[in-house]
Amino acid sequence: MAGIKRGYDGKIAGLYDLDKTLGRGHFAVVKLARHVFTGEKVAVKVIDKTKLDTVATGHLFQEVRCMKLVQHPNIVRLYEVIDTQTKLYLILELGDGGDMFDYIMKHEEGLNEELAKKYFAQIVHAISYCHRLHVVHRDLKPENVVFFEKQGLVKLTDFGFSNKFQPGKKLTTSCGSLAYSAPEILLGDEYDAPAVGKCVCNSG
Ligand code: ATP
Repeated sequence: MAGIKRGYDGKIAGLYDLDKTLGRGHFAVVKLARHVFTGEKVAVKVIDKTKLDTVATGHLFQEVRCMKLVQHPNIVRLYEVIDTQTKLYLILELGDGGDMFDYIMKHEEGLNEELAKKYFAQIVHAISYCHRLHVVHRDLKPENVVFFEKQGLVKLTDFGFSNKFQPGKKLTTSCGSLAYSAPEILLGDEYDAPAVGKCVCNSG
């Protein structure tokens, strides 16, 4: 954990100059940033801790725990965590091509099948790797797949609903993104974590 020189409003989070907004979610804003000494570009996920209730704080804890654990070419790397009294900054590997939701919206005529297959295989590799480590993402959706055009890769991000699971033991708590939920989660049934892959809470 690094110290903070100036707050978020001063556009400097510790050692990073914050720049334009790359994306927004329910709990966070993701900004482009540059390391002040090396000039390296990163994505910084800024989370306002004062807006989080107990459940959301638990998700944040799991997000950091799981992202630190997973290291794979098709998963966004978490480089560093900067904690202040009111904000948590996740310093992330920067995607240079936007997210898959925007990509799909820009290609109304549909995607090239070969390319779609290539990206799909990469996402499956990432998920399979997570499951081998007994990590379940639980919020798989196009918004959480980021393009790395220079590397010719897509990478999975946003482990905000992720959790560790014990093989053979079902999870019960329902959460995630409603529009993408598996039937057993919508019905409130207990479910097999790797099979469902996306939703649910830290309480398991
Ligand atoms: P949600 O409310 O959907 O759970 P969130 O608050 O957890 O979202 P993220 O999903 O982590 O936030 O990020 C929001 C958006 O920021 C993504 O959809 C994507 O467009 C952009 N983004 C996230 N991480 C990166 C990255 N490493 N590089 C580039 N853009 C990113």
